[in-house]
Amino acid sequence: MKNIKGTLPKIQTRLYIDGKWMEGSLKPNVVLNPATGEELIAVEQGGAKETEQAIAAAKKSFPLWSGMELKERVKILHRIGDLIEENINRLALIMTLEQGKPLAESKVEIQTNIDNMHWNAEEARRVYGETIPAPNNYKYEVKKQPVGVVGAITPWNFPSNMIVRKIAPAIAAGCTVVLKPASSTPLSAIAIFELFKEAGLPDGVANLVMGPASKIGKTLTASEDVRKLTFTGSTAVGQELYKQSGDTLKKISLELGGHAPFIVFADAPIEETVESLVKMKFRNNGQACTSPNRIFVEKSIKESFTKALQEAVYQVTVGNGLDGVTVGPLINEEARKTIDEQIADAKEKGADVLLGGERLTKGDYQKGFFYQPTILDGVTNKMNIFYEETFGPVIPLITFKSEEQVIKMANDSHFGLASYLFTKDLRLAEKVSRALQYGMVGINNTGISQPEAPFGGVKYSGLGRENGHFGIEEFMEIKFVNTFYF
Ligand code: ADP
Repeated sequence: MKNIKGTLPKIQTRLYIDGKWMEGSLKPNVVLNPATGEELIAVEQGGAKETEQAIAAAKKSFPLWSGMELKERVKILHRIGDLIEENINRLALIMTLEQGKPLAESKVEIQTNIDNMHWNAEEARRVYGETIPAPNNYKYEVKKQPVGVVGAITPWNFPSNMIVRKIAPAIAAGCTVVLKPASSTPLSAIAIFELFKEAGLPDGVANLVMGPASKIGKTLTASEDVRKLTFTGSTAVGQELYKQSGDTLKKISLELGGHAPFIVFADAPIEETVESLVKMKFRNNGQACTSPNRIFVEKSIKESFTKALQEAVYQVTVGNGLDGVTVGPLINEEARKTIDEQIADAKEKGADVLLGGERLTKGDYQKGFFYQPTILDGVTNKMNIFYEETFGPVIPLITFKSEEQVIKMANDSHFGLASYLFTKDLRLAEKVSRALQYGMVGINNTGISQPEAPFGGVKYSGLGRENGHFGIEEFMEIKFVNTFYF
């Protein structure tokens, strides 16, 4: 008998434009459960036409929304946060069904949404300007104003929070939005938009268009009415969107790939460090741009660290995210193939598989995209996994002998998003954290994504920051007003 827990709650399947649920003109998209391979539901899809309608709705509602009494805007944002909280179980279930992550992790993600909504609601009151010392009879003022219509494109790995962490600051700033979610996880987006409507967010302030990525992307980037594009996804797509946005000179934020180094110095407490590593690595089954992807361990503790790590990874359970496991499936077959290829390449070039290394295909695992939690030892920069984003449950171990050597190896990446280092010597931590060419550094912890702190990367990991006051400012323009008194 089908587990009742596993049944998709009743949910809209249409696009949401100008406050109305609308049919799309293109073929519907079937959403799959990656743990069972089953079809969950089909959602409507639109293309350029619907995107243009959504942009027009966002443009029309912008003067009203940006001009609304601030207190009213803040109230609506808080109401959305409250509704997300009331619906946490429903939203988490929808996410686990379409994305695969364990239900407990889905709940944490929804909790982050709640924090994001309330935090940005409050921050809307604090978008302060400046006055600058000016010559006699002049007043120099700096004001911050919302940029206008925002285009947002989001990925499948955090299908709910990637949306909220963009839309919350955008609407808090007074902007209006057109969102395109990832095709494999549109339901989490729909579920959030249902709550926007219930909370009384005025028509046209947030619009949802599902459909072919490049068509919607091109329409958003080509539009002169869209003044800002915010994107999370792969570096290749980010580069394409950056180029496309050049013609209309949009403001742009790009949260792209990462390949986080996780550095363990000899004095780090092994048990706590292993615990942090395993928790962060297997979060979302390694499908995170902040996932520790290259684990550098100082030679003198390599053996004891590896032993403790093996024991910990051995405890990681894999299965349907509704069944209380540590990790769920990967998102699709393509993801599994990439991991296969990275492991095969590493093995061929001399890496040892200490644990896992294979797909899980038997019994309950047959229909989903499951993979064994894997540890690879003896990884070197000759292997693809040293440079390619991993996006799966693989821990590559690399040994280092000195601070200089590890800094050089850690920075040997196109990417520059998250980095982690573990040591009791905080002087060393300070020095190394300065040298790391990354947008974020976790010292003795991995909590780098916080509603109040800037999240983002350097190099090929992107442009701009999300979260905190930095995040809201990405949706504002600066205006200088120079007044002369006759
Ligand atoms: P990932 O699949 O690793 O999340 P992608 O960059 O492929 O990364 O996808 C992130 C988001 O970007 C998704 O919503 C996807 O549909 C969208 N996307 C993919 N290709 C394009 C494109 N050419 N133009 C605009 N959006 C795109």
